[in-house]
Amino acid sequence: MTHVDPALTAQTVELLQQMIRNACVNDGTPTSGEEGRNADLLTDYLDGLELTHYEPVDGRRSVLATLPGTDPAAPTVLLMGHTDVVPVSADEWREDPFGGELIDGEVWGRGAVDMLNLTASMAVAVRELHRRGTPLRGTIKYLGVADEEAGGTWGADWIAANAWEDVACDYVLTENGGIPAPMPSGTKIVMTVAEKGIGWRRITVRGTPGHGSMPYGADNALLLAAEVVRRLQAYSPKAVVGELWQGLVEAMALPDEQRDALLDPGRLRDALAGMDPKLARYCHAMTHTTFSPNVIRGGDKTNIIPDRVELEVDIRTLPGVTGAEVDAMLAEALGDLWDRVELSPVVQERPASASPVGTPMWDTLERRARAAHPGAEVLPWMIVGGTDAAFFRDRGVPSYGAGLFSAKASLQEFQSRFHGHDERIDVDSLGLSTQLWLDVAGDLLT
Ligand SMILES: [Zn+2]
Repeated sequence: MTHVDPALTAQTVELLQQMIRNACVNDGTPTSGEEGRNADLLTDYLDGLELTHYEPVDGRRSVLATLPGTDPAAPTVLLMGHTDVVPVSADEWREDPFGGELIDGEVWGRGAVDMLNLTASMAVAVRELHRRGTPLRGTIKYLGVADEEAGGTWGADWIAANAWEDVACDYVLTENGGIPAPMPSGTKIVMTVAEKGIGWRRITVRGTPGHGSMPYGADNALLLAAEVVRRLQAYSPKAVVGELWQGLVEAMALPDEQRDALLDPGRLRDALAGMDPKLARYCHAMTHTTFSPNVIRGGDKTNIIPDRVELEVDIRTLPGVTGAEVDAMLAEALGDLWDRVELSPVVQERPASASPVGTPMWDTLERRARAAHPGAEVLPWMIVGGTDAAFFRDRGVPSYGAGLFSAKASLQEFQSRFHGHDERIDVDSLGLSTQLWLDVAGDLLT
């Protein structure tokens, strides 16, 4: 079992509560987030360490702490946690989303699982390593970083592009892994090694303006856009059966017929229809490049037939899919309507990324997860959204979504709290994650 220091757990609880109360809500606009509040909190908390700050635009402040090692040949580990959170629908919550209250062994609030829990536990571990004063051979860095929730423009993307030497490292640990997932083949501990890419597109549909009183035969851009949306919804490129998917299917311990269907690209999509809808949604995303039309803008006035409608499509790519292939898929989806639309310059694009298992860091994560959950196996996992790990994998740094969670937070429960209502984390998980970072330092850096 994993030994946890209750005094450190208490520090993580308190720091997490303060970070939640700072409410660094990132709605995607450049002036939101105001992560300076959490950067200041962390700066005070990490007083005495070597600190560097980054603030590419006012208020979007990140903080880097470095604990230099004694041996330049020893590895450098970067613990990276974002300090921003996504908006809430406060009316839907049982408790105050920014109260950071500790209720029945759980800390409540926006960011409790995504990912202020880990950001706080990393800071506590780094401060503890500094306090102990025992020199480490390897270097440990801690980055409390802004703007993850809107793609890292004012955070990890900017820092990696403008201050790479500061954050350069051999391994990155960030959100999210070490989460127990009870499965028919026994409990698996998922640890993230890969994430899908982003290929957001804006599509403009044009028509001919006219008076709304005479719609017969009108060239209405909104009607055309509706058909574009319908075709995108109906479209599904061929399934791709990769190694991570195979591992997950094996873990599900399904009857042979169902397992074979899920591993057959030609039959996979039909096989998903028989699964639990929530699980099927994830499984579909893990095996397909996905297209979700999420924004529509058009029309000005009830009595004018619109001549221009804009659509934004959230496209998530599988490993190996290029931007040109995304455009080709869109053309396939739209068919004869492809000539009727204009594609704007790319809204946002970055390729899918993956890190190998079998590195010394991976071995440590695996060993520590098994120690915390005797009898469980570690399952390499792909996140279907995006995280800051991508900026480091792009530069060749093995990056894992890690952490260590108690059995009170199953993967299934955990996923519903991500960006959901009633986000909360149990205190045991906070203690386990804090201990994991200390153990990683002990295993790799001494
Ligand atoms: Zn996150």
